[in-house]
Amino acid sequence: MEVKFVLDFDGVLFNSAFEAFTVCNRAIADRSGYRDDVSFEEFLEFRAVVTDAWQYNRLYDRDRVIRDPAKLPAELPGPEDWNFSRDFFAARAELMGDPEWPKVMSPYDFFFLLRPLLLEHPDRFAVLSTRNVESIRQTLQFYDADVLPIFGQEDIRTLGSKIKVAEAQGWLKKGEYFIVYVDDMNAHLEPFDGKVHLPLHASWGYDKEKIDSLSQHQVITIISSLLKLSGGRDAD
Ligand SMILES: [Mg+2]
Repeated sequence: MEVKFVLDFDGVLFNSAFEAFTVCNRAIADRSGYRDDVSFEEFLEFRAVVTDAWQYNRLYDRDRVIRDPAKLPAELPGPEDWNFSRDFFAARAELMGDPEWPKVMSPYDFFFLLRPLLLEHPDRFAVLSTRNVESIRQTLQFYDADVLPIFGQEDIRTLGSKIKVAEAQGWLKKGEYFIVYVDDMNAHLEPFDGKVHLPLHASWGYDKEKIDSLSQHQVITIISSLLKLSGGRDAD
């Protein structure tokens, strides 16, 4: 069996909340119908339940705003939400034109602890995120760690969900892979329960901590131990 580590990006490798806040504010700048009074504190509270960019529309759109973030996961996207999502990614693309852009992304200690392992065993890791691939690639480039396969928003839109992307990669095939999947959003982890060997909840991200959530050091210990056990080669 091949040991593989599949990592979420936002809330696991990078704290990108301020970047997302900046992108949202750029997307709605000088446009009527959107709230211009959203504080970073309110944004963070909302961010804790966001799993896709269209959902930010429910924080900013005056007609569709949801005051209680707990109600967000039950909402289904409508045309206004998809329009917001389109504007969000266009605003991000515009901001990314600045070569200093990745500086608004803060790496967690986890990223710095993981970086030598990524560089040593790039074939063992993959990024699986709802963020667009180019923004992940540019950030990793900026931190000299652009060595991994990246599956992002484009793949998820094509296939439907993170678990579908994992399935298409063959990672769910019994007996072929030993998958460690790290995500900070419980909603993203749940479909992986029972489908991969180790679905791990990152306690340091945006979602609420649970009894079985793991710290940055605990996850690094698991990853480095498994790399050692598999001898950098396929474990069988
Ligand atoms: Mg995340």
